[in-house]
Amino acid sequence: MNFTNPFLNGDGDDKLHEECGVFGIIGAPDAAAACALGLHALQHRGQEAVGITSFDGAEFYTRRGLGHVADNFSSAESIAELPGHMAGGHVRYSTTGGSGMRNVQPLYADLASGGFAVAHNGNISNAMRLKQELVSKGAIFQSTSDTEVIIHLVATSRYPTMLDKLTDALRMVEGAYALVVMTPRGMAACRDPMGIRPLVMGRLGDAVVFASETVALDVIGAEFTRQVDPGEFVEVDFDGTIRSHRPFGDTPARPCIFEHVYFSRPDSIFNKRSVYESRKNIGMELAREMPCDADLVVPVPDSGVPAAIGYAQESGLPFELGIIRSHYVGRTFIQPSDSARHAGVKRKHNANRKIVEGKRIVLIDDSIVRGTTSLKIVQMMRDAGAKEVHFRVASPPTGHGCYYGVDTPERSKLLAGRMDLAAMREFIQADSLAFVSIDGLYRAVGLAGRDKACPQYCDACFTGEYPTPLTDLANRKDREAQLSLPVNEDA
Ligand code: AMP
Repeated sequence: MNFTNPFLNGDGDDKLHEECGVFGIIGAPDAAAACALGLHALQHRGQEAVGITSFDGAEFYTRRGLGHVADNFSSAESIAELPGHMAGGHVRYSTTGGSGMRNVQPLYADLASGGFAVAHNGNISNAMRLKQELVSKGAIFQSTSDTEVIIHLVATSRYPTMLDKLTDALRMVEGAYALVVMTPRGMAACRDPMGIRPLVMGRLGDAVVFASETVALDVIGAEFTRQVDPGEFVEVDFDGTIRSHRPFGDTPARPCIFEHVYFSRPDSIFNKRSVYESRKNIGMELAREMPCDADLVVPVPDSGVPAAIGYAQESGLPFELGIIRSHYVGRTFIQPSDSARHAGVKRKHNANRKIVEGKRIVLIDDSIVRGTTSLKIVQMMRDAGAKEVHFRVASPPTGHGCYYGVDTPERSKLLAGRMDLAAMREFIQADSLAFVSIDGLYRAVGLAGRDKACPQYCDACFTGEYPTPLTDLANRKDREAQLSLPVNEDA
């Protein structure tokens, strides 16, 4: 996450735009190489920068770079710079401010207790307030990353052990975090009390591995053992001893349901479920809830493919690749500016004219965020001669910004934040538009429906019900009100 000047939010863009993946391994002779491979499997979680820190029993070594994992860690020399049996790393994406090298993780500091390196996926929703307090007490920040707040809180904690210092620090933090921490005594992995962001652990021989997603374990041949539970801190020593702590007691888990919808890779296991199966089930629910009189089911590749398979199977309509995707461009959304995003859609998708010409098609995508992709794709289908274009979305309308580490912009930039269903249909110029219901989404992930009293997932981007306080956002709204600035209706 990045801090931006709270007084410069004319466009309401002070939220953190960060999507990240973390990886850690301890007890492996080629820890940095394994870490680079693991991060490569997490590349979809962040494409802007990457870093790895290793520890050889005496010293910490860090190498960071802008760009993809393969751009920075494919040479033997790059890995040779990172000796030792412990390594942790991070892939990162942010769209505004602070995208320079100083924010690239892992962040490292020499504390009184020794070296401390941390890689963080998530957003701290009271980071700005904590930072102001720390700065007023004399702290000097090196980066604009909220992760640095954790380092300062650990550094100034009066508790004796590292675990207690970390617990003390994280007790002050609101929001979402999955952390991989390295100290001269070993590695710790921590997940926020609600487990909003994912974190799993596995084994590679004697080595213990942590990663945002199970695909990062698969790629190095590690065995997936279990998820790090919400609120759990797992400590691993160099002799392989594993200790589990739950410093926050039992709080209801609220993992991010958007990991099932879009964010995780479909071959990952998230919250004990196959992401692929969840996506296929969403498509089936969508076919039951929002059937369509059409000739073909066409996915928006790649993110719409599993749901489209489910939709086709349930509806009995043929599934066809009416859009072909170039694999040499990144995710459309992960582009720093609107113009780049628009160009990205065109470079990424092309109509398979032979398939769609003269047909009534049901287009399936995982979500509509700003509407850029859907508008272009509908137009592309019409240009290729489709007779009717019906749009079905494998998630409910995304009407609210995310403050927990997924780059879903604030309400004013979201199509569903600005428009009702009829206006959205008109905007994307589809013949019909429908979304899966929130209960349909919960059924697809194996539940009877959404428990309104105690929702089983964080679904704030769909419902606007945020499971933690959003202190920085509330403070900003107060400030805007005091200055009589127009209040940006983010939440
Ligand atoms: P848009 O063009 O803004 O409506 O973006 C919609 C597409 O972006 C969806 O079809 C998804 O495949 C993808 N997407 C949705 N949410 C995110 C996100 N938070 N980060 C990156 N990509 C996303």
